[in-house]
Amino acid sequence: MHELPVTENILAIALEEAARVHARKVTAINLVVGDMASIVDDSVQFYFDFLSKDTPAAGAALNFRRVPPQLRCEECDEHFDFRMEELEQSLACPHCGGSRLEMVSGTEFYVESIDVDE
Ligand SMILES: [Zn+2]
Repeated sequence: MHELPVTENILAIALEEAARVHARKVTAINLVVGDMASIVDDSVQFYFDFLSKDTPAAGAALNFRRVPPQLRCEECDEHFDFRMEELEQSLACPHCGGSRLEMVSGTEFYVESIDVDE
C-alpha cells in the first residue's frame, strides 16, 4: 500500500496551491495517472477523505485521468502509445517494425490542476 504517502503528497500540493491563490476551499483535484502506476483510485479516495478532514480540501472531488504508457523505439526514435491488449501479441514499432522498445512513461502520478472556491 503506497497510496498513503502518495495521497499525503497530493493533499499537501493542493493545500499549498489553495493558500497561494487565497482560496477558501478546494473543490476538485485533477490527477494524471499512468496506466502502469499501480495506483488504486479507491484507495487514494479513501485516504484523501481521511487526511483532508478539517482542511480547506475536505470534500474535494478527485478526478483521475488515466494515460496510456508510452514506448520509444530504439531503432527510429519514434514515440507511441502502448496498449494493454497488445501484450498478447508481439510488440513492434508501428513506424519501422523494430522490436527494441523502451518504456518512457506510464508510471506517472501527479496533480495536473486544482479547482478552488475563492
Ligand atoms: Zn521504430
